[in-house]
Amino acid sequence: MYRTHTCGELRLEHAGNTVTLAGWVHRIRDFGGMNFIDLRDRYGITQLVFNPEHNDALAQSASQLGREFVIAVKGKVVERSNKNLQIPTGEIEIIVDELNVLNASITPPFTIEDDTDGGDDLRMKYRYLDLRRNPLQQNLLKRHEVAKAVRAYMDAQGFADVETPFFIKSTPEGARDFVVPSRLNPGQFYALPQSPQTFKQLLMVSGFDRYYQIVRCFRDEDLRADRQPEFTQIDCEMAFVEREDVLQMFEGLVKNVFKKVKGIELPEFPRMSYDDAMLFYGNDKPDIRFAMKFVALRESTPLSLGEGQGVRKNSVMIFPTGFKVFDDAETVIGICATGCAEYSRKQLDELTEFVKRPQLGANGLVYIKCNADGTFKSSVDKFYSQEDLKNIAEKFSAKAGDLILILAGETARTRKALSELRLEMGNRLGLRSKEEFKPLWVLDFPLLEFDEEEKRWNAMHHPFTSWRKEDDALLETDPGKVKANAYDIVMNGVELGGGSIRIHNRKNQERMFSALGMSKEQYDYKFGFILNAFEYGTPPHGGIAFGFDRFCSMVTANQEGIRDFIAFPKNNMGRDMMLDAPSDIDEKQKKELGL
Ligand code: ASP
Repeated sequence: MYRTHTCGELRLEHAGNTVTLAGWVHRIRDFGGMNFIDLRDRYGITQLVFNPEHNDALAQSASQLGREFVIAVKGKVVERSNKNLQIPTGEIEIIVDELNVLNASITPPFTIEDDTDGGDDLRMKYRYLDLRRNPLQQNLLKRHEVAKAVRAYMDAQGFADVETPFFIKSTPEGARDFVVPSRLNPGQFYALPQSPQTFKQLLMVSGFDRYYQIVRCFRDEDLRADRQPEFTQIDCEMAFVEREDVLQMFEGLVKNVFKKVKGIELPEFPRMSYDDAMLFYGNDKPDIRFAMKFVALRESTPLSLGEGQGVRKNSVMIFPTGFKVFDDAETVIGICATGCAEYSRKQLDELTEFVKRPQLGANGLVYIKCNADGTFKSSVDKFYSQEDLKNIAEKFSAKAGDLILILAGETARTRKALSELRLEMGNRLGLRSKEEFKPLWVLDFPLLEFDEEEKRWNAMHHPFTSWRKEDDALLETDPGKVKANAYDIVMNGVELGGGSIRIHNRKNQERMFSALGMSKEQYDYKFGFILNAFEYGTPPHGGIAFGFDRFCSMVTANQEGIRDFIAFPKNNMGRDMMLDAPSDIDEKQKKELGL
């Protein structure tokens, strides 16, 4: 028998028992011939003692062991004289009587410790060693727990888990498809699903009523820190539902998982319109752990871009003209950072550099310090009187000691930059605790967004999303104004999931494809299957999908990114460093595939 117990199991009550343990040599400490070894497995660490006075030959062999050797030992559990109360097994140790080396190990390329010395690339290359480290093991075990909690909830609510194919026809959802050449159909390709969107809708046509799947999705996107070319969704769909039904059901899911996995009762989720999210946070996934809402000194609502490029409609300016940067700007918006009036020149310069980075592209940053004595000091003192600055400060409800930060420019870009600056200030002020969870529904998204490069409309969510009844007439006349029956679930500034009530008849689906600039031939070729299905008694339906990897990272309060929650992830270039994939294939394979 390799083991009677795991390395995390033994306690004081086991003292006197003879046990067999197996695991990896985690650490060896040699005190003049007396060897202490920490033996590690998935469950914990147990201290082994090789005492030359007890068994000299054994102590000799122990000194030959190295880190990460796999061994089995038999020995007696005894109470430790020098207890380690940091670990659950810290009150006992094993006096070893038998040692069996199951396998040797060469020296690992980095230390298998909670804080390792290995760099990113090295750890990716030896992922199987990185996965021996406790933090990563805990992450994957947590992922398993989240999956179990999700399945338990979905099952209790009557959802059926149905698998859908991976080799499909391209159904674009905003990203590029990964394609697979078909040997049996030379010159033709399957696409890997960006999500099972059309299949889950077809399952509603088939009458499955409540479907879910924890399923892999594939998107060929430019990668960012928290993106992976293959990732996992909790994909869900329901028939005979309105938006409210879906929101209730999946708010329930999130609450349930947090309760089960984290022991936290989340309160009812607040709701915010997309327009408000953009206006007050400059972002469709606002982090509402802290307020610091945008205040508009000049805010313009761009007209729908199909028409005259959106100039200053509804523009307000609350202070006199004179400062050209503000006077000429489409939008002038700012935030108030409580208690930051004492920021030094250097700190302000840092913030200015922050917003001027090419990713944000602001031209500059205007600050107003609300001094303790009631006066104001600003970077625009030349243009505005103390009275003007006081008016502005009032607009921000700023108090003595606060710092106002203002950006000006074109609306979308300025909002984005201020949104990032707000998050940065939130970080600096310690307002974004990872142990605080603030969920939010974002509703009433625009149905379409204009693609400046392609000069056409794109679906903001995906082309199967329905629109508000009251906007129906606008689809052909003023598409930019149409609001979708779509919703996102956001937590701590991270989009956890999103979905919509779907179009469920042929006519409206065709209108949507036309609005996206597709000809009848094009949509019949690409989407004929679903258009046809819609003619055979399709129930009203809607659903949602959660990013499962992100969900896990959120529940674990990691929030660093999803990589640590995927056993074998890809790097930022979409490469698997361990397999060295993607790679070339041989000529014969290529020929067979007609490549
Ligand atoms: N298929 C959608 C997505 O992947 C989710 C949904 O609409 O249910 O974002």
